[in-house]
Amino acid sequence: MKEIERQGGMISIAYDHPGCATSTAWAKKPREPELGEKTILIERIKRLLKEQDAVLVAHYYVHPDLQDLADATGGCVSDSLDMANFGHQHPAQTLVVAGVRFMGETAKILNPEKRVLMPDLDANCSLDLGCPVEEFTAFCDAHPDRTVVVYANTSAAVKARADWVVTSSIALPIVKHLKEQGQKILWAPDRHLGHYIQQQSGADMLLWQGSCVVHDEFKAKELADLKAQHPDAKVLVHPESPPAVVQLADVVGSTTQLIKATQNLAANKFIVATDNGILHRMKTLSPDKVFLEAPTAGEGATCTSCNHCPWMAMNGLLNLAEALEKGKNEIQVDPVIGRRAKVSIERMLDFARQIGLPTRGIGNA
Ligand code: SF4
Repeated sequence: MKEIERQGGMISIAYDHPGCATSTAWAKKPREPELGEKTILIERIKRLLKEQDAVLVAHYYVHPDLQDLADATGGCVSDSLDMANFGHQHPAQTLVVAGVRFMGETAKILNPEKRVLMPDLDANCSLDLGCPVEEFTAFCDAHPDRTVVVYANTSAAVKARADWVVTSSIALPIVKHLKEQGQKILWAPDRHLGHYIQQQSGADMLLWQGSCVVHDEFKAKELADLKAQHPDAKVLVHPESPPAVVQLADVVGSTTQLIKATQNLAANKFIVATDNGILHRMKTLSPDKVFLEAPTAGEGATCTSCNHCPWMAMNGLLNLAEALEKGKNEIQVDPVIGRRAKVSIERMLDFARQIGLPTRGIGNA
């Protein structure tokens, strides 16, 4: 990534992913506070959370400081859906979501009566950006015989157009269920996850061609080389990764499933193919185990090849404190769109309950 601008304590980073609708997107990383400043900031945020009846919900991919702060203040660190469910069950009237925009929107859709704040509203996702609602609606309209299934990493408007919203850990049972009912599927936006689900289920799926700029960068040959150097390591892969990378996995799963694998498998070493923000959680839960990052460098790599999400990196202590102090960056979802999107999300939650999956921990990226 190329640093292009320093302004008002923010570092802007040009972001370019050729062949994807995110080629004009950008991410800006907040300044890292100094050590003494950090301690003061953390105390200030703790006080603000209390004063404002607010709870911090953070994604596994955000900065370790935010994950630790969420844990220390009675909030939660998890995947996107679990974050929304936690916010729904928690009595706090303000939810502070440290993650990316679709996570804040999902929290608002499920909790329309609550105030939802984010450190930076420009924290986005290439899957969301790569699936604009107008084009997606036209795609759906051109295939009216197909049931529309969308991944959680989409805008509220795209969710509102869908029949089902799914996350990576429940996508397969839902698609299998739809296949048993004789339904053909239109899937969006992640093509690799769609390909994986199609292979596993044998369903008739028409795929939108979106991708995650992080997972798309994992390289199969270099991963195979690393695996050969560490034959005792288990390879954990998120299914947003390319098929050749998924093929090398010992475990394929959502963030929550990969974390559980590090606790449950009889192994002391893991190669992890997902955003490296997750390593903080894995190391906290299993301090004696060894975690290696799957390679993103190698053939086909560019200057933007990296295993950390530029938009997740936009969340920091400084902009979190400012959002709380000034009531900045409140998520708004059009109530009509929100009500429609809620139907597709609740269909998934009801299905999860019917098959006995806990509704906490069935999350996505
Ligand atoms: S890691 Fe990928 S899927 Fe997750 S928010 Fe970033 S771009 Fe989106």
